[in-house]
Amino acid sequence: MDAEIIYSRIQDALTRAGRRDKVIFAAVSKTRTVDEMREAEKFSCIDCFGENRVQEAETKRAAFPDSRLAWRLIGHLQANKARKAVELFDSIDSIDSPELAQRVDRIAGELGRVMPVLLEVNTSGEASKSGIDPQNFTALVDSVMGLKNLRLEGLMTVGPLTDDEARIRRSFAQLRGLIDDARTRTGSALPILSMGMSDDFELAILEGSTMVRIGTLLFGPRHYPAQNS
Ligand SMILES: *Cc1c(COP(=O)(O)O)cnc(C)c1O
Repeated sequence: MDAEIIYSRIQDALTRAGRRDKVIFAAVSKTRTVDEMREAEKFSCIDCFGENRVQEAETKRAAFPDSRLAWRLIGHLQANKARKAVELFDSIDSIDSPELAQRVDRIAGELGRVMPVLLEVNTSGEASKSGIDPQNFTALVDSVMGLKNLRLEGLMTVGPLTDDEARIRRSFAQLRGLIDDARTRTGSALPILSMGMSDDFELAILEGSTMVRIGTLLFGPRHYPAQNS
């Protein structure tokens, strides 16, 4: 689907939600070729790329020496790929444990940079999904706030795989509640609430999403399964 059509659906959802703020449109480019990504890059309504494998992003990013778009890691990050991820990405959106946070912080310090991060929360209760258990969320926030080479910018979640709209909305509403708690606790603006994908981005916007991550709707069906990195 044309990016402009997706963008107008984003705007419609914002209007329905009675919102006047903006939603960041991330093009989820995992499994897509450099050529497909260059096509996407031409649309001014697209703000960034989302990749879920460090290795794949490394190969492709070399073809974009001066891209106007930020590259965000949205897939699970293995400890042994943390250094490469800090070198490669503009943001790591999948911090889901204090140990991973500490590791990324140490590496960012060694590389002399401050790494923007999101915390990924498992709001669906599905065991197959990554993200921290909501019960352990506050402890993770506290631990990340103590790390000086990380800059906490918000939260990410993947909604449940279901047609039940009420369940999907509950999952997004839960993340919204968690970010409100974290804003109060940290005194930080935490501007990014990353939730909503091809099938549920309008529901996410109704629940307060400020970043949607769209793959299939933009590029078509993925032709090989994306593996977790
Ligand atoms: C693949 C992926 C998306 C995009 O999913 P689509 O259904 O193709 O839009 C969004 N977020 C994450 C974390 C993903 O892994």
